[in-house]
Amino acid sequence: MRWILSLCLGIGPVACVSEVQDPSFPSQDPTFVAQVDRAAQVLGLHPTTDLDHAHLAMWDGSTPAVTCLTFADWATAKLATRAPEPRQLRMPQSPPRRRQDATRRRPLGLDEPQLTAQDRLSVRLVQTALDSSNVRSSLFRARDLDLEDRSTEWGGTLDWGDDGWFIEAAPGQSAGDDTVFERRPSDFWKMFRGAIPFHFHARNLNMSAVAGPGGTDLQAAESHGVPALVITSLSEDRLQVDWYRRGGVVVDLGEIER
Ligand SMILES: [Zn+2]
Repeated sequence: MRWILSLCLGIGPVACVSEVQDPSFPSQDPTFVAQVDRAAQVLGLHPTTDLDHAHLAMWDGSTPAVTCLTFADWATAKLATRAPEPRQLRMPQSPPRRRQDATRRRPLGLDEPQLTAQDRLSVRLVQTALDSSNVRSSLFRARDLDLEDRSTEWGGTLDWGDDGWFIEAAPGQSAGDDTVFERRPSDFWKMFRGAIPFHFHARNLNMSAVAGPGGTDLQAAESHGVPALVITSLSEDRLQVDWYRRGGVVVDLGEIER
């Protein structure tokens, strides 16, 4: 199974980058097809993208404790299973940021009915993780490295490990355009175990004019199906955080300080 997934995930999807085409996917390998069918049946999830197939192919045979209506719900259930109980939802303290065209009217309040119970759980997990000084300092360090790196945006994953919340960040895999982030295939292994993907908008120190996910970021979310974050650099000591997922759902989580 692993080699098939390596092959599949080697196609190199994306945030900030739109086109991924691989005519050989989904794999017709019988083992792969059987695993995906079985997982889809047990979990009640219907794959619509190549990455949904890859996500299902990583099913470990366990059934989530809660009903999962979407792939995002399933990813959140996996993270919630290993992370400790998150704190309650908090409304952002900072005023809403100006938006990119694609999402100008889309950010939702935390109390709006479009958000599912699992969406709110995902946001609570993120807010709890961002309370960790280790996570915040790692994010600012990665943002600083992204600022210095003129060849690509940076990104990575937020996850819970034995020692608490942590992030892993690295340059995107296609160097040559500082406005795009092309996610490394290894991130998808982590995302399909529940880690939350993020990327920076940090071409300059103040990127408030492009706060939040752009059109290609939303397309990437349609493709991978799991909750994601975009971290926008506002100043030396402030970052804007936005949560988004498939369906064009975007939530403004406000700012964090160094
Ligand atoms: Zn982006």
